[in-house]
Amino acid sequence: MSIVNDNNSDEVLSIKKRTAHDIFYGEDANTGQMLHISAVASGLKCNCICPLCKRPLEAKKGDIQAHHFAHQSNYDCFYSSEVAVYKVVAEILSERKRIMLPGAVLSFPSWRGEVESLQKKGLFPLDSAPSYRCQEKQYPPDLIATVRGKHLRIILDFGEYYDKHDISELRENERAQNHACIRYDFPECGDDDFFSKAHLKSVLEHGTGAAWVYNPLESQWRKQYREKARRLRPVDGLIDCPLHKRKVGNRYCVPLSTCLECKFNVSESNSCLCLGGQGYEHKRDFEADETARLEKVRRMRAENDKRIEGEIRIREEQELQRKRRETEAEKRRQQERVEADRQRRMRQEALERARREYQAEREAEYQRICASFDEHSGVAAIDKYDRRWIRCRICGEIKQSGEMAEYGGAGRMNTGTCSLCARKLT
Ligand SMILES: [Zn+2]
Ligand SMILES: [Zn+2]
Repeated sequence: MSIVNDNNSDEVLSIKKRTAHDIFYGEDANTGQMLHISAVASGLKCNCICPLCKRPLEAKKGDIQAHHFAHQSNYDCFYSSEVAVYKVVAEILSERKRIMLPGAVLSFPSWRGEVESLQKKGLFPLDSAPSYRCQEKQYPPDLIATVRGKHLRIILDFGEYYDKHDISELRENERAQNHACIRYDFPECGDDDFFSKAHLKSVLEHGTGAAWVYNPLESQWRKQYREKARRLRPVDGLIDCPLHKRKVGNRYCVPLSTCLECKFNVSESNSCLCLGGQGYEHKRDFEADETARLEKVRRMRAENDKRIEGEIRIREEQELQRKRRETEAEKRRQQERVEADRQRRMRQEALERARREYQAEREAEYQRICASFDEHSGVAAIDKYDRRWIRCRICGEIKQSGEMAEYGGAGRMNTGTCSLCARKLT
């Protein structure tokens, strides 16, 4: 699909797809006025020609089919029904000399659906009758109004004739010429009630189904916002924030995700094109003087600084409390360790004491055995610990049986030779 170039009237767009609907309007062969099928006599007496190919039309007003016009010559004329509606719309605009235009808004992805109103929806007077032009085999016709000295192209979309791609192509085309363009969302040509003159008048008066394809005002504001913005790129994964939204160490910086939700970011992609440092937030900020704007920035920054300071204070207080708790816990652990040591020491001392007492008792028992030792006794000398004591006949010492090389025998139950003396003898 391409559009007729204003400067070169010979260049005609190629028609995207063909439709052939009943024609509801004919052009009066004498006056050029568009006449609805209901307003003309039947047959060739209708005195109408096709608004597109200019060939004679015949009014078919029979009993069976819906009343409509047809080319008398059965000429293969596509889009004559749609072009007829364009021409009726041109005629209504010429009569009324005004049009309801949709509101114009500005938005950027980071605004998350929020919009800035640039111009309210409203009825605008036309500077003059709109210019209508349609060559044979041209579609769509050129229907261009002038509002406040600016061109406004009017596109009628019948039954979603234009897909998304077509609309963006239309937009680029109008952008290149800096012409405004609105599109009316119409049903397919064929609904007689919808396309009646009365209804079409109401549509133009109320702006029903009208939306901007391209609005230079929106484009101009978008450009203004973007021109004032500064491209901020991440350093170490973070973007320096002129509004001090967050602080990492000694640096005021934020992750990109924060920028993508910040209304001062006017990037159209996943990046940061920042107006924060300049304070352009609304349309009115572009009119406010620089001092007021920068004062606003300073205020926002100060508020954020205050909040960050508060957060830091809370963090520090929490850290202090954590440390205090840790110190107390460490003190408690230390006390427990000291107590455990003390108890262990006491247990060891008790054991040692018991051991020493036992040792002393055994020593006392040995002394008792020594004091009462009778080597001639026929009874073995056994103490209360079941230790058997023998006197060494060589060294004379009284030793336990285990320390003896030999002992016992008839009449010498309690004597023998100790191991030490026995070794000396050999
Ligand atoms: Zn025709
Ligand atoms: Zn001995």
